[in-house]
Amino acid sequence: MSNKTQQLLEIDRQRVFHASTHLKQYAAGELSGRIISSGSGIRITDSEGIELIDGFAGLYCVNIGYGRTEMADAIYDQAKELAYYHTYVGHTNEALVKLSDRIIKMAPQGMSKVYYGMSGSDANETQLKLVWYYNNARGLPEKKKIISRDRGYHGSSIASGSMTGLPLFHAHFDLPLERIKHTMAPYYYRREDESMSELEFSQYCADQLEAMILAEGPETVAAMIAEPVLGTGGIVPPPEGYWQAIRKVLDKYDVLLIADEVVCGFGRLGSDFGSLHYDMKPDLITVAKGLTSAYQPLSGVIVGERVWSVLEDGTDQWGAIGHGYTYSGHPMGAAAANCNLDIIEREGLVQNAADVGAYLQQRMAETFKDHPLVGDTRGVGLLHALEFSSDKLRREHFDVNLKVGPQIAAACLEQGLIARAMPHGDILGFAPPLIANRNDIDTIVDKAHQAVNKVMDNLVTSKQWQPK
Ligand SMILES: *Cc1c(COP(=O)(O)O)cnc(C)c1O
Repeated sequence: MSNKTQQLLEIDRQRVFHASTHLKQYAAGELSGRIISSGSGIRITDSEGIELIDGFAGLYCVNIGYGRTEMADAIYDQAKELAYYHTYVGHTNEALVKLSDRIIKMAPQGMSKVYYGMSGSDANETQLKLVWYYNNARGLPEKKKIISRDRGYHGSSIASGSMTGLPLFHAHFDLPLERIKHTMAPYYYRREDESMSELEFSQYCADQLEAMILAEGPETVAAMIAEPVLGTGGIVPPPEGYWQAIRKVLDKYDVLLIADEVVCGFGRLGSDFGSLHYDMKPDLITVAKGLTSAYQPLSGVIVGERVWSVLEDGTDQWGAIGHGYTYSGHPMGAAAANCNLDIIEREGLVQNAADVGAYLQQRMAETFKDHPLVGDTRGVGLLHALEFSSDKLRREHFDVNLKVGPQIAAACLEQGLIARAMPHGDILGFAPPLIANRNDIDTIVDKAHQAVNKVMDNLVTSKQWQPK
C-alpha cells in the first residue's frame, strides 16, 4: 500500500463514520478500507491502481456507467447558470420543468405531479406524510397504517427504516413505528409448502395480506408500500400473478399502493418502470437511484391523480401544504437527471437491459443451476441473485457463522469483480450498469463461477461442508 493511501485511510478511520460498517473493527484497523479514485464505464479504480468490474453499479444506481463527461458538463453548465434556487410557492427552474414533464410522460398512466427530494429514504418519508394527509383530507383520520413486507427495503430514516422489513434496520433503533406492519415476502424459493405452484403461492400471499388488513381493521389501513422486485432483501422477483392478486385485495379495502421504484425505475428490469413491467397500477411511485445514475443526489415522489386531487382539496381546507425541503427540485439534480435520461434514451439502455439482461439470466442459470453450492438462481433484467444453500434439495441454510455469502463476495473481489453480499441470507447480488454488453456478462459470470468454486473447495478441504 502506498504511503499516501495509508495516511488517508488512517485519517479516515479516525474521522469518518461509515454506513453499514462494524464501527469498532473498522476504527481498529481490523476491517480493510479502500479509497475509490476514479471510474470509467463498468469499472472503478482504487488509489492503488487496482481496477474492479462493478457488477453492482455502486448500489444499483450508476446505470449509465462511470466517467460520463457529458454528465459532468451538464452539471457544470447548470452550476454556472443557476446552481440553486428553492421551489417554494411556485418558484421553479427550466431543468425542473423539463424533467417533470418527461417523468410523467414516461410513468404509468394516471400520474400527475412529481415532488423532489435528495434520497430514496426522504422520498418514502414524503410518501408516508402524503398518505396520512390524504386520509385526513378525506375525513378518515383512523386510516393511517402502512403495510410493508418482510425483506422490503425502503430506506433507513425513521419512517422509511420502519417500512424496511429487515431486522438489522430495526433492532436497537426502537423501530418499526407502531403504524407500520409487515406482511410476508413473495419469496417463492423459500415457500413452506413446496407443492404450491407460483400462482397458488401468489394467491397465498394475497390471502395473507387480506387477513392482515382484516385483523387490523380495513378502516385503519391506508397504504401498502412495495418494490416491484424485492431488492436489498435478496433480489426476489415476484411469482406469477402476484401483483394482480395483491392489487385486487388493496382495491377491495380502499388501500393505496406505493411502488418503490428506487431500483427498478428507469430501466433496470428492461422496462421504463417496474410498475409497467408487472402492470402494478400504483397510486404513488418513489424514484431515486436510477433517476440521475447517482451523478447527483435526487429523488422523486410521483403522485397519481387519485391522491393529487385530494391533496389539492386539502390545501383548499387548510392552506399551503406544510411539507418542503430546502433542496426540493434542486436545479443541479434536475440537470443531471435530464442528461441521464437523454443518455438512456439515445443509447437505448432500457432495451439493452432487456436484451443483455436476458443473456445474464440465461448465463447465470446454465452456470449455476446444478452447482452443489447454489440453491437458487433468479432475477429479471439486469438484476440477479445467487442464493447459496448447504443442502440444495432441502433448501437448507448454511450456518451464518460460516459467512458463505461474504466469503464468496470476497473471492469475487480477488477476481476483480464486485458482487454484493446481500445483508440478509447467503445471497450474492448482481446489478451491473445498464451499459453492460454480452462480453461483460461473460466476464462477470466466469469470475463469479471461479469465486464460488474456490469457496466451495475451501469449505470441503477444511471439512466444514460436504456436497449433498
Ligand atoms: C436504496 C433504496 C432506498 C433508499 O434510498 P436512499 O437514497 O439510500 O435513502 C429506498 N428504496 C429502495 C427500493 C432502495 O433500493
